[in-house]
Amino acid sequence: MHYKIFLKLNCMGCGESRVMLLAYVPKTLVLGRCVRCGKKIYKGDEYYYCQGCGVSYCPICAKKTQGKCQICGKPLVKKP
Ligand SMILES: [Zn+2]
Ligand SMILES: [Zn+2]
Repeated sequence: MHYKIFLKLNCMGCGESRVMLLAYVPKTLVLGRCVRCGKKIYKGDEYYYCQGCGVSYCPICAKKTQGKCQICGKPLVKKP
């Protein structure tokens, strides 16, 4: 889940105003981190879980490890 925030900034040089879009994610929505790359896994995001050692993988790392845990070698379970 991502919250979109629009920020209006005035350029110090030319005085032109720009609208910036920021994606803000509250910390309470973080489930954990990918054990392989350290990427944060947020509530509502797709991730992979190892039932053998209880670690989480992001979808990219799960693909790179062919759906297997790098630590214990057990197949990863897609969540949620
Ligand atoms: Zn990862
Ligand atoms: Zn494992």
